[in-house]
Amino acid sequence: MSRVVTILGSTGSIGKSTLDVISRHTEQYEVRALTANSDVDTMALQCQQWRPRYAVMCDESAAQRLHDVLRQQGSDTQVLSGVQGLCQVASLDDVDTVVAGIVGAAGLLPSLSAAKAGKRILLANKEALVMSGQLFMDAVAKHHAELLPVDSEHNAIFQCLPSVSDRAINKSGINKILLTASGGPFRTFTKEQLAMVTPKQAINHPNWDMGPKISVDSATMMNKGLEVIEAHWLFAVAVDDIEVIVHPQSVIHSMVSYADGSVLAQLGNPDMRTPIAHALAFPDRIFSGVEPLDIFEVAKLEFEKPDFQRFPCLSLCYEAIRMGGAASIVLNAANEIAVAAFLDNKIAYTDISVLIEQTLENVAIDQDVSTIEHILVVDHQARDIVNQYIARKQ
Ligand code: NAD
Ligand code: MG
Repeated sequence: MSRVVTILGSTGSIGKSTLDVISRHTEQYEVRALTANSDVDTMALQCQQWRPRYAVMCDESAAQRLHDVLRQQGSDTQVLSGVQGLCQVASLDDVDTVVAGIVGAAGLLPSLSAAKAGKRILLANKEALVMSGQLFMDAVAKHHAELLPVDSEHNAIFQCLPSVSDRAINKSGINKILLTASGGPFRTFTKEQLAMVTPKQAINHPNWDMGPKISVDSATMMNKGLEVIEAHWLFAVAVDDIEVIVHPQSVIHSMVSYADGSVLAQLGNPDMRTPIAHALAFPDRIFSGVEPLDIFEVAKLEFEKPDFQRFPCLSLCYEAIRMGGAASIVLNAANEIAVAAFLDNKIAYTDISVLIEQTLENVAIDQDVSTIEHILVVDHQARDIVNQYIARKQ
């Protein structure tokens, strides 16, 4: 029996890697819907190749353009638009697997829609979980959805945990989650050098080929901080039991340390097709297109403690989860806006953490965030505030 798949964010790095894996197993996977924000050219090509029943462009004018292009091609793919279109294809009755590969807060509503429809969700969109942790996990449990982590570290942890269903970490003899980080392109930079870095340097990651936002997040180590929060929710583990380890080779994707002294690790070449293939086929294993790891070529594995002084975004994430309430929503929103401003050459790299800290101090953290509506209100408040700070800098 083949699995029927919706790919949210199909034109991005995760989306393309997913299609690459599926292209090796077309008898097992059927692509029902593809979605993107505004990249009509890539979407038109993907529709030509995959002939999905639905293609969604979040942007209305892009949807119109895609519609025109597809009609010219004689395609029978139906074009939908807006957040409503995204949520619709994330919850179609005949779809069983939804790849959550949209970047940022924009992925929250469609990912939640997949959870409420009880789908198998391949979660790459960590921001959705950072924003809505408890609410999202409750929706997954209530609607019997299956949440499989695609983020390489979380996929590694998932593979090293005792069993799929046993989420009571403390009862399983687990001491600690060891979350590895490459350290990003500025791992060895001094504070003075960090003040001068450009967007071009920041998006040039040494080991991973990713979209621009997560590449900047990796350069500030905000990505690792978001991943600490992601692991906290996914595996029901206290953040104090999650330790970040800088491992520049990115060969060990994370580890789990047990009471008896065992440490289990998952290794592989740094290529997202491995965790994607793992989650697509789970509990089976399929070929992903990734070369087997040549351990002799790797030869050396190094480990360092993270430097919280040079990478303050990492401590801000630990603080946000300890603060609780609205803090993680504020942190995520401020980061998204600050990263976009940095990529736009409006602020310096070192301004990113400063802006996040200021925003965290100026949005009420004790607000009610128990519903999706409340979460979105806080998200907008934080975006307004950080935008005001950035405007004052101009
Ligand atoms: P990307 O920028 O390459 O792609 C993002 C996708 O989301 C595109 O298809 C884009 O059209 C879509 N999108 C963007 N804004 C949207 C909006 N407002 N509405 C609807 N769709 C929108 O990003 P990526 O690197 O593929 O990352 C996607 C997610 O996966 C992020 O949350 C990232 O943190 C996570 N992730 C990525 C990698 C990786 O290797 N790329 C690894 C781990 C986790
Ligand atoms: Mg990761």
